[in-house]
Amino acid sequence: MHPDLEKVLITEQELEERIKELGEQISRDYAGKEILVVGILKGAMIFLADLVRSITVPTYFDFMAVSSYGAGARSSGVVRILKDLDRPIEGRHIIIVEDIVDTGLTLNYLVQNLQARNPASLKICTLLDKPSRREVEVTIDYNGFSIPDEFVVGYGLDYNERYRNFPSIGVLKREVYVK
Ligand code: 5GP
Repeated sequence: MHPDLEKVLITEQELEERIKELGEQISRDYAGKEILVVGILKGAMIFLADLVRSITVPTYFDFMAVSSYGAGARSSGVVRILKDLDRPIEGRHIIIVEDIVDTGLTLNYLVQNLQARNPASLKICTLLDKPSRREVEVTIDYNGFSIPDEFVVGYGLDYNERYRNFPSIGVLKREVYVK
């Protein structure tokens, strides 16, 4: 384990098994249809890469990058689009793929923004959910793991752009971010 981690919360094997289940569930739910997965950069990229490999229906990708305005680690609810989708989504079956839902403010904004573009359907798939921190209600259709209110890194999730390449999800030691 990396010395900056306090503990591993979700192991590589647990990630692999659960993500395979999610892919199978999505494949069943969308049988006979085509889907467009919208990955939210950068945190969701490793999750998305593994998830789509266990989806068996025709699958297209697009990506968005967003950042929330406001100081510090707190979400403000005001979201800025840094990179928008490459193509229109009207009439398509969309699955937003996120790394983690915390307050829900980012996803709430994304759902409203994408819904206004008239997709045939819009669902949400997140690897992690921190339900205790929710400030706005969001309907999560596919959730990998519900986790306690701890700051996690790895498997795409960062702290100041570090640790994204860790193969498991770990809790960062407090002394790394409280100086
Ligand atoms: P929300 O708008 O739901 O509060 O924020 C979601 C975003 O906050 C996530 O996409 C992620 O970038 C960031 N975030 C929330 N909790 C964590 C966490 O425990 N670890 C990391 N690395 N990012 C988090």
